[in-house]
Amino acid sequence: ADDRDEKLIAVALLARGGQGLPRSSGLPDNLFVHDGQITKRPVRALALSALAPRPGERLWDIGAGSGSISIEWALCGGLASAVEAREDRTENIRKNAAAFGLAHRVTVVTGKAPEVLAGLNAPDAVFVGGGLDGALFDAVWSRLTPGTRLVAHSVTLETEALLGELHQRHGGELMRVEIAHAAPLGRYRSWEAARPVVQWSAVR
Ligand code: SAH
Repeated sequence: ADDRDEKLIAVALLARGGQGLPRSSGLPDNLFVHDGQITKRPVRALALSALAPRPGERLWDIGAGSGSISIEWALCGGLASAVEAREDRTENIRKNAAAFGLAHRVTVVTGKAPEVLAGLNAPDAVFVGGGLDGALFDAVWSRLTPGTRLVAHSVTLETEALLGELHQRHGGELMRVEIAHAAPLGRYRSWEAARPVVQWSAVR
């Protein structure tokens, strides 16, 4: 099944109805193997825009899930350390990196941040997509060299409160994104709202 997943993505990438692969960030979700825990396309595009990848730069993708952020970073010419606590998900990250031909640019780190960050090379940017709390933030922030970009997303009120505090303390940009998709409602259509996502971006 593993092999098949990888082939399916590779084929989807190549084929896409003969349309080829878009060059912009915010690739379709179905190009990644995932279990539902994936930063969805429009929000992922906003994450990459805030992360501002440049060729050769290194990303720490903390709570990497399917690895979609790491992969889009690597597609921009960067190197990524995809840090993910759950082994079933690190398996997905490996499959996705392989299917995109990016296994050499995406290092999969299995384990919990911040403990597992100790051995990693210093990053140019950090994305926190999972596991953010005060302790994780302090451990990461204190290790970053001045000029490092940090982008964090939250969907819970608790993490959102933390981001509000961090924005007050460290500045940067705090943004709330509310996206709705048109969906059938009887014979009509209506907006179906996704959970709001709060994004904080700052430079150390
Ligand atoms: N950006 C990802 C989705 C992230 S979901 C994507 O596009 O696929 C958040 C992830 O963070 C989950 O997979 C969860 O297992 C992971 N996580 C939560 N706390 C963590 C921690 N302390 N260290 C590493 N991973 C963590």
